Order: sequence, then C-alpha cells, then structure tokens
Amino acid sequence: MDNLLSAKNASAGVACTGATGYLTIDVAAICRNYGKLASMVTPGRAAAVVKADAYGLGAERVSRALYERGCRHFFVAQFVEAQELRLALAPDAQVFVLNGLQPGTELASAEMGIIPVLNSLEQYRRWCSAARALRGTLPAVVQFDTGMSRLGFPPEERSTLAKALDEHGDVEVLFIMSHLASADELDATQNAQQLAEIRRIADAFAGFDISFANSGGVFLGDAYHGVLARPGIALYGGAPTSGEPNPMEPVVSLEVAVVQTRTVQVGTKVGYSGVHVTETEARLATIAAGYADGLPRALSGRGAVYHQGVRLPIVGRVSMDSITVDVSALPEGALNLGDLVEVIGPHQSLEDVARDAGTISYEILTGLGHRYYRHYR
Ligand SMILES: *Cc1c(COP(=O)(O)O)cnc(C)c1O
Repeated sequence: MDNLLSAKNASAGVACTGATGYLTIDVAAICRNYGKLASMVTPGRAAAVVKADAYGLGAERVSRALYERGCRHFFVAQFVEAQELRLALAPDAQVFVLNGLQPGTELASAEMGIIPVLNSLEQYRRWCSAARALRGTLPAVVQFDTGMSRLGFPPEERSTLAKALDEHGDVEVLFIMSHLASADELDATQNAQQLAEIRRIADAFAGFDISFANSGGVFLGDAYHGVLARPGIALYGGAPTSGEPNPMEPVVSLEVAVVQTRTVQVGTKVGYSGVHVTETEARLATIAAGYADGLPRALSGRGAVYHQGVRLPIVGRVSMDSITVDVSALPEGALNLGDLVEVIGPHQSLEDVARDAGTISYEILTGLGHRYYRHYR
C-alpha cells in the first residue's frame, strides 16, 4: 500500500504522507531573495519581516535559514510571536515587535530580550518603568506615524518624547522607524511626502538612524533605504511593486490531488447552488483543496489550475474542501484519481492566483492551509 501511494505522488518529489496537497517552500530561494534585497540596500542592512509565521511559511525555519545567511534583525507583529522566535534564534539576533508594547508584557519582554517598537508615549513610559524596576536601561525602537494613521507616535506626541529622551536614560533607542502606505506604487505622491516627513523627524531627533523601507520601499530608490530595510513579501517571492515585472524568485509551489473525475452532459449543474451549468459535454475533475485550505471562495468561477501546462478553469463555487475544474482541454484519460495539478507553480504564479481572487499575494500566503504536506527545500 505504501509503495502504491508513494508512486502516485512521485511528482511532488516527497514520500507520501497520505496528504492530498503538497506545499513546497524553497528556503534557499528565500535566502537568495534576501541576498538580493540586502545588496540593494547596502551600505544599510536588511532585516527580515517574519510576522504571521513568516507570511504563513514557517517563522522558525525561515528565520533560522536567514540567520545563517547573515540576517540579524527579525520583525514580528506580536509579543507571542516574538516569544517563540526568541527561543529559536541565537542571542545576537534581534527580535522586534511591530505592534508595540502590550501592557503586561514589559517584564517578560525585558527578560527574554525582546525589543518592542514603541508606538506611543504611554508605551514609552511603561518601558521606562520596566527599566527602572530592573535597574538598568532597555533597548527599543521608536516608530513615528508619517501618514498611515495606524501605528507609531502621532505628531502631537513628538515634542514630549524628545524632551523625555533628553531627560531620562532609561530607554536606549536603537533606531527610529516609519512605514510606507503606498510603497508598492512607484508613482504615489504619498511616498515622497512620507519620506520628507521622516526626514523632518530625523532632524528633530538628531543622531538616530532610520528604518523605513518595506519590500516596495527597497525598489523606490536609495533615498528610501535608511540603515535597516524591513522587507517581508519580497523575501517570500511576492511582487514588491504593483504592475511591474516581479524581480523576486518564486518561493512557493502548491500541487493538489484529483479526488474524482467525471464526464457530464450539456446543461449539467456543477457545485453549490448550481451556479455553473455546462454549455457542452464536459470532463470535470474535483481537486482536494478548498477555502479551508486557503483557496479563497472569490475564486468561484474564476481562475484555474494547470496540468502539464494546460489551463483548467475553475467551474462553480469553491467548496470548503474542494474545487471543481473543467479538464476538457486535456486528452481523455490524462488526469486521474490521485494525480496532482498545479495551483501555484511554473504556469501560475502566486500573484496570478491573488489577482484572480481579487486580493493580494500577502493574503494568499498567510491563508495557506495546514492540511497540505509541507515540504521545505
Ligand atoms: C509588514 C510590515 C513590513 C513588511 O512589509 P512588506 O510589504 O511585506 O515588505 C515592514 N514594516 C512594517 C511596519 C510592517 O508592518
């Protein structure tokens, strides 16, 4: 039995696990993408944004590999993510929490060496208190809001912060940062406005280095780089700039097994609510991944999978555990129970799937399900 199953899934290049979907994550490609971004931002350095489990790809594995590749700065969004990552990385790696300092996490952060991004005066004061309680100084990053109204010191708190930094030595500010709202749009006027704003802040807080660019920001030019770029999506093969060719190497491929095939007559309803009705006789295949596996329901009647380079359109609604595709374009008998089709791969990029689903690569990656067999290369 084992041998038969292994043979069936040979195209995934992995021993069979009984899974019907195979997610391959090319860690070496992530490291090459890191190398490319890091060389673009020299003499500054590149961090790695590994929040949301490294965009769904596995924060520990990805971070360890990037550490080997020379990365020493790792950004997560939440304290609990930092706790896990801190234990996985060597002490000379720095782990930063973008969402800021949550009340109650001060002492644990200090003890574990987790570095908060301070986003308000209240957070700054709480971190000062923790430093005093521990009779030392504590490192932090200070984020300024330069136009996103999401996270960071608002303009009205800047002067109070400047005064406090002058008067107390409880917090050691490693660098200041801000985040671009439209970095993926080359011609967005907001980019230059935010750059001018962070420069004004850097003048007011003289002597602090700036971390500014996310993936898109790296491609906006040297002025945006600062001392520490914070790419996320580009590491994982997503396009840093909308509407431009993607310069990054693909990282993720996804193959899913056929669980049933059938031939239906003209006028046959397919899937929930019968929204698709065949216009000719058609050969259909049901594929073992649905919205519970991260294939958005918005792909209903849109998008496709590929087999041997042939496009197989999705027909009818995406179900929780499966989608149905029209395989009439393939020779009869070309696709059978257990065969794998390409969802993300050489013929269909992550960006293609995101576009068909009316979303962005970030959402597809972070939504990739946990029923796939994950194979790290
Ligand atoms: C998520 C995030 C990043 C990384 O953004 P990408 O567009 O994925 O490169 C960088 N900085 C901050 C503050 C973020 O929230």
